[in-house]
Amino acid sequence: MTWEAVEQDISQAEGVGFKAQRAVPVGGGCINEAVLLEGDGQRFFVKLNNADKAKMFAAEAAGLQVIVDSDTLRAPRPVCQGGDGQRSWLVLEYIEFAAPPADCSELLGQQLAAMHLVTHDSFGWDIDNTIGSTPQHNAPAQDWVSFYREHRLDYQLKLAKKNGAPGQLLDRGDRLLGALPGFFTDYRPRPSLLHGDLWGGNWAADSSGNPVIFDPAVYFGDREADLAMTELFGGFDDRFYQSYRHAWTIDPGYETRKVLYNLYHVLNHFNLFGGGYARQALGMVDRLLAEIS
Ligand code: ADP
Repeated sequence: MTWEAVEQDISQAEGVGFKAQRAVPVGGGCINEAVLLEGDGQRFFVKLNNADKAKMFAAEAAGLQVIVDSDTLRAPRPVCQGGDGQRSWLVLEYIEFAAPPADCSELLGQQLAAMHLVTHDSFGWDIDNTIGSTPQHNAPAQDWVSFYREHRLDYQLKLAKKNGAPGQLLDRGDRLLGALPGFFTDYRPRPSLLHGDLWGGNWAADSSGNPVIFDPAVYFGDREADLAMTELFGGFDDRFYQSYRHAWTIDPGYETRKVLYNLYHVLNHFNLFGGGYARQALGMVDRLLAEIS
């Protein structure tokens, strides 16, 4: 592809002319093509996709900006996003990553807790975004349980029905939706600023040894949802959890609710990839129903 339109967008956003001398493909992403664009000592990280992904990129840019503005945990600064009718792009500050030093995960725990202390006046967010490539609706709500029921679990269950999920999962999932208040009898979450997709592949250390989070699905919600996701696929060590708990203690009910929160991501994985995720989701639903009965 030619880079002229991207160069123009960058020049306009940065207020100084930018001309790319090198475009180096970057691997590692799940959804988009990524390129390091370099010229005259300036470097940008460019995500590319089809034209219809422009809204997804705009929402990602807005989410990154909220994290950057929170001044708690490093995330790439969004530079601009645009498209040429065929392709759309999101341009970010390029961050040089390095092997994390020993204390990096400790910093990550501390700084994530600080980010979670940033709260909003409602759950959700004023922008809808995506989780993987699945739409994620964030319609602001005062009540967390209704928000989580409608916009997280029920949304994924309806999608799972369309995607041919087993009837058992759908029926018991429905029962779980009705039982949700039972998991919150003596626990009142705050609308914390969340990364929203915090698996081990979405954090790294910069070359100064500071943790960086990227590729978010930002909204305001129960901080336990972010913590739960860190446990779903691994990639976070004991020092991370210790320093998080040191900064902000975790309610004992988290051990059960984390299954509830990870169910959202497992259902989403079923909807994106199918396969064994339906069985995993059913196991989680059964475990939760057993807790509540
Ligand atoms: P995708 O949306 O396709 O999943 P990611 O945002 O996860 O893409 O980015 C893909 C990879 O590129 C990441 O795993 C990370 O190693 C690297 N990366 C992400 N953001 C930056 C950045 N701002 N600067 C440099 N490298 C980055």
